[in-house]
This record gives sequence, structure tokens and C-alpha cells, in this order.
Amino acid sequence: MPTGTEKRFGGQTRNGRMRIEGGCHCGRISYDAEINPDYVVICHCTDCQTISGAPYRASVPVKTENFKLSGQPKTYVKTAASGNKRVLAFCADCGSAIYSTSLENRLVFNLRLGGVKQRAQLTPKYQGWCRSALPWAMDIGHIPQIPDQTP
Ligand SMILES: [Zn+2]
Ligand SMILES: [Zn+2]
Repeated sequence: MPTGTEKRFGGQTRNGRMRIEGGCHCGRISYDAEINPDYVVICHCTDCQTISGAPYRASVPVKTENFKLSGQPKTYVKTAASGNKRVLAFCADCGSAIYSTSLENRLVFNLRLGGVKQRAQLTPKYQGWCRSALPWAMDIGHIPQIPDQTP
């Protein structure tokens, strides 16, 4: 057990940040990061829908100095609506999305929340690109809920 009052991962540090760990499904890529839980966001843009294969995507930014990656993700470069080129990193073996970052200036990495072990504690604070949100994705609470696999 670590000494001191801070847990190694999860829980807030004294400066309001959280140490998290994550990685891909097959385990070839993993990381440690220190993030600010207030910056967790959902993106409803159509690129996130297509590239994630999901109705929307959630992520949290981390500065390069607070991000330790092990393993070599494959990358795909897309041109965003703004014209900026974004690098999307994913595991070449299992396909898990890992992060996005700027092509020119890799100072911040947007970690994909689904790969973060502490994701249940990271409630999003904002949702963006709501004009392209799937209308049903904004309110799934009323859809019948089953504790495990769907029929
Ligand atoms: Zn993998
Ligand atoms: Zn998006």
C-alpha cells in the first residue's frame, strides 16, 4: 500500500486532479495519467459517432507531461470541421480507441473514457456538437434495463 493520504489511482489529489490508468482491450497499450475530472466531456459529432462505432464519445484531456503511455498505437489523421488535422490513436491489434491529439502540436491528449479504469467516477460535465446528437441518445433512462446481456 502506498504511504500518505493519496491513493495511487482514483480519488482526487490535493490539487483537484485524479490519477487514472487505462489502456486497450488486449493489453498491448496502457497508460497512466493525471487529469482534471471537471474536463470530462461528451462529443456528439458525426466523426465521433463513425470512428468510435458508438452513438457518442466521451473523453478527458491530459497534458503531455501528465501522460505516460506504454505501447505503440496505430494512428489515423482526420481533418476536423475547423480544418485542423487531428491524430486519432488506437490499438492496431484490438481496435480500442486510445486518444486524439493535434497533428502539429501534441501538447494535449484527449483520452477516450471507455479505456479508463476509473471511468465510472468520471461523470461528463459538458456535451458538445449536440446538433448532431442522435435524438434518442439524449434520454436513455426510459429504455427497459436489463442487468446483463440483451435478449
Ligand atoms: Zn489492444
Ligand atoms: Zn466528436
